[in-house]
Amino acid sequence: MHIPIPQIAVPECWLANLGRVQDYLLREVRVGGLHDIGRSALGYPLQVVEYPQVGCPKLMVVGGTHGHEPGTVASVMNLIHLLETGRDLADQPHDDLLALLGQVQLYAMPCLNPDGRAVCPDSFHAQGIDTVTIYSSGLQKDGSLIPYDADSDEPLYYFDPAEAIFIGGQLNGAGYAMNRRRSPDESDAVEVQRLFEFVRDLGLDALLDLHACGYSFAFQARSHEAPYWPIMREWQRRAERLFAAKGRPLGALHGDGDPPEPPPFHFNSSLFHEHARLMWVSFEGRQGYLGRPSFMPLPTHWEIIDDYLTATRVFLELGIEGHYARANREVFGG
Ligand SMILES: [Zn+2]
Repeated sequence: MHIPIPQIAVPECWLANLGRVQDYLLREVRVGGLHDIGRSALGYPLQVVEYPQVGCPKLMVVGGTHGHEPGTVASVMNLIHLLETGRDLADQPHDDLLALLGQVQLYAMPCLNPDGRAVCPDSFHAQGIDTVTIYSSGLQKDGSLIPYDADSDEPLYYFDPAEAIFIGGQLNGAGYAMNRRRSPDESDAVEVQRLFEFVRDLGLDALLDLHACGYSFAFQARSHEAPYWPIMREWQRRAERLFAAKGRPLGALHGDGDPPEPPPFHFNSSLFHEHARLMWVSFEGRQGYLGRPSFMPLPTHWEIIDDYLTATRVFLELGIEGHYARANREVFGG
């Protein structure tokens, strides 16, 4: 059965459509260098744009791990456009962010899961959370959701695509979960494995992984060692001030504790942290849902992107100040 994907009208700045993203990367990227790092399970190209800067900290920003989180793709594309032209895709300047971008060697990957992106609409703005739930999980043949319970301790790692009407944005086209790992040593999702192989010997200090839920908060990577915990708390202090100044409050640092308690399974964070010796930072932006008081007031598409860029700004600041590199040395030596 073929499920037609609704075509949603979005503003120029919301560049999340897979075909349009690929067109931009092939035709508009001139300052950066485009790396083809492999193919998704369904054969879409996996692309990273590199902005070289000699002698600077190496940092990476990744969007689109989950296909139903289009704002993460749009935000990395705005970051790329800023680096290419000095303005975001709404022609707005971000002088503070741009100044920081000049002090790092940035690797930007707009879409880690093109298979998942391809089966989801370009935006869930002003829609209900139950709509996105269908696109995030996908549907079994009997019409029920694929049992991907985000809050479960018994995660779904794999669902056979032959048993589905369609596979949702949490999974790749082969049915593997994009951000849940049985092991901290490898990934069944080919896209994650290709990115890991690209990153492993790159010497990155840290990687910012962008996600979207209804809210706006960063994560304490609970599997990270103690030297990393105060860095996220500092990230939170700085980000809170910037978000408050915009009148768009940031949620509390998610998963923090004393000490933070690791979950009973692995995310991509443990694979990349342990084997590429970097700090993993996750930020959950907003989708712009309607229907629950906690999602109000409704942000605009641009405000959602602007918040991701603010999160990125704080991420870069801490990298330039050497916080990630120091913690990496403390944990891994060298
Ligand atoms: Zn996500």
